[in-house]
Amino acid sequence: MSEIIYPTTNLKVTETLTIERGDGAYVYDTEGKQYLEALAGLWCTSLGYNNRELIDTTTEQMGKLAYSHMFGGKTHQVGIDLSDKLAAMVPVENAKVFFGNSGSDANDTHIKMLRYYFNAIGKPEKFKIISRERSYHGVTVAAASLTGLPPNHTNFDLPFDALGVLRTDAPHYYRNALPGESEDQFVDRIVNNLEALILAEGADTIAAFIAEPITGASGVIVPPKGYYQKIQAVLNKHGILFWADEVITGFGRTGNDFGCTTMGIEKPAMMTLAKQLSSAYMPISASVIRGDMYEAMIEPSAKVGVFGHGYTYSGHPVAAAVALKTLEIYERDNIFGRAAELGEYMQTRLREFLDHPLVGEVRGEGMIAAVEMVADKQTGQPFEGGAVGTFAMQACQDHGMITRAVAANSLAFCPPLIVTVAQIDEMIEKLGLALNDTL
Ligand code: PLP
Repeated sequence: MSEIIYPTTNLKVTETLTIERGDGAYVYDTEGKQYLEALAGLWCTSLGYNNRELIDTTTEQMGKLAYSHMFGGKTHQVGIDLSDKLAAMVPVENAKVFFGNSGSDANDTHIKMLRYYFNAIGKPEKFKIISRERSYHGVTVAAASLTGLPPNHTNFDLPFDALGVLRTDAPHYYRNALPGESEDQFVDRIVNNLEALILAEGADTIAAFIAEPITGASGVIVPPKGYYQKIQAVLNKHGILFWADEVITGFGRTGNDFGCTTMGIEKPAMMTLAKQLSSAYMPISASVIRGDMYEAMIEPSAKVGVFGHGYTYSGHPVAAAVALKTLEIYERDNIFGRAAELGEYMQTRLREFLDHPLVGEVRGEGMIAAVEMVADKQTGQPFEGGAVGTFAMQACQDHGMITRAVAANSLAFCPPLIVTVAQIDEMIEKLGLALNDTL
């Protein structure tokens, strides 16, 4: 047993698996056993392991300029090139980009930029943020407060009220619909709940609504058709900004450039990007905001003498170079188009498990999916606790596949975007074996 305090781990559990190396869509443990990485690490290694171009880019940039900060406007070309490229890609109008290290700190940055912006335009009372139940936005004090999963709150005494965090429904029809409710009725009910919340709190006190277009850590919830259109109509009516947390759904994961495109979310005011931005070869994140929000922040910062927010590693040149190369590879190799095609195949194959006695729902879009195991297939009654999910995840591992149990008893699938059809078939075969072990 080492001295590591393991992240997001039951601290009673001892070390579970020692991974030594990776190659393509596979990783290997210290015994040499091969595992298909069906979660791309933590939803992030989109170009797989041991990618020569990314490794060469890293070493070249390290040799050229291993570190330089961006405080006070000190800059470097690779950072500028990356921001240009991102600004041209995202559906945010006249996008401006702030670099960070992780999805969590990028969300913290957004919270602070929201406050800065609304203070700047003379609306300091407009600071609350609506987040959804069963959302995941990270684990720093502020980001964990946005996250809507109880284990990320319990025993941490988070400052929800000080941060102005409000909660609204998770758009999960299978789990949260009332008996007999159609998808349309479900959507109308939860959109009405959102509007009732806005009216009760006062739209003038609410800055933004944050959503993962398709959730990840909370079980890959794909909202019913029409949900985001109706949500956006309500937000627009009340002057509340749409903030897309695309930390997982960005860069081809859902079969399009961004989850917003897949889900029909138009012109979000803010976007959080990380993970696949660099295929996880270096830690980097980006908090993207609309150009007019940035413009409004210029004068107040000039008055103070500084926009007093920045990380030592904001715009780290090696991370920026790797991210830039990653985006180049996505474009050159048509990775998003490939993800759309492979995604259709993966979703079709995973839905074969709807016939399995343990499986209640298979959901997903593009190259992200979850298979939910239930105690009663007819009623959808969930298993108590998370033991079944943990067992099935371990069974996958025994059969040489790494996945994650999410939302207690769902298994998540989010393989590197470079997987082959044969590797998707391998994933399906291994899942079948693991589900039978779990029966
Ligand atoms: N937002 C979303 C949607 C995420 O899925 C995650 C991580 O999984 C985060 C934010 C936090 O990112 P990080 O773990 O890099 O801090």
